[in-house]
Amino acid sequence: MRQSLTQSNRIVIKVGTSTIMYPNGSINLQRMEKLAFVLSDLKNQGKQVILVSSGAIGVGLARMNLTERPVTIPEQQAIAAIGQTELMNLYSQFFYHYGHQVGQVLLTKDVIDFPVSRENTANTFEQLLIKNVIPIVNENDTVSVEELDHLTRFGDNDTLSAIVLEITDADLLILLSDIDGFYDKNPMIHTDAVLFDTIHEITEDTYALASDPGTRFGTGGMTTKLSAAQIVLEEQKQMLLTNGEDPTILFRLLKGEPIGTLFTPKQNGALK
Ligand code: ADP
Repeated sequence: MRQSLTQSNRIVIKVGTSTIMYPNGSINLQRMEKLAFVLSDLKNQGKQVILVSSGAIGVGLARMNLTERPVTIPEQQAIAAIGQTELMNLYSQFFYHYGHQVGQVLLTKDVIDFPVSRENTANTFEQLLIKNVIPIVNENDTVSVEELDHLTRFGDNDTLSAIVLEITDADLLILLSDIDGFYDKNPMIHTDAVLFDTIHEITEDTYALASDPGTRFGTGGMTTKLSAAQIVLEEQKQMLLTNGEDPTILFRLLKGEPIGTLFTPKQNGALK
């Protein structure tokens, strides 16, 4: 029984593209609707939820009937602009159906690095939560590019979601992925891989157990999830990595059931 999870009140939930898209490139409407249902019900239970959702480019490709990701940056950003609108349109409708209002927060790295705009972002999140709105966050793919003297990209939504936990002072980050948790080797390749129940610290040896993603849509694979865990543990907060196949799993894990891999500081009493 993971008692500490039952007490989480402000929770950041991140879904990867592979959670909301079918492998054939179409949008998984069933999954998106179930996710909206679960998060709405958690909100009804009195919890504060923030959703970080990938998928702008995936949804944009589906919308434009494209099978391949374009190669040029302007084309990719155009697809992201189309996809982000459609992504929010879908979330907005699903959440509205369950009685909840959403608000879109698109972030770039420079905003977070610059103290005044970071403070403004934190205040915006706070206002949305005070107003009982569910913030839906994504990297602003339409403008964020890696430029020499102007670094605007987070690069991946795992790291972004850990930063969202940091600036909103949330208790818990839940990463919903295409895998049940963190294993001692990539389970998509090795059938004898063993799932970790709990991890207390991220070291070089931990990173050595992660390899590239096995899916078409996966971006960062396990490495970026470990970087996210490192940020979360430094904050003395907790991160849970589990499979997003059935979003109702969130109800069980927030009741303390030992699901997925929990990244938690050594001294549980020291949780912030
Ligand atoms: P998402 O799209 O949810 O962000 P990714 O596909 O990017 O997820 O990353 C998850 C993938 O990481 C898994 O499907 C798996 O192929 C890969 N992986 C690599 N090493 C590990 C490991 N040690 N434990 C679990 N998964 C791993």
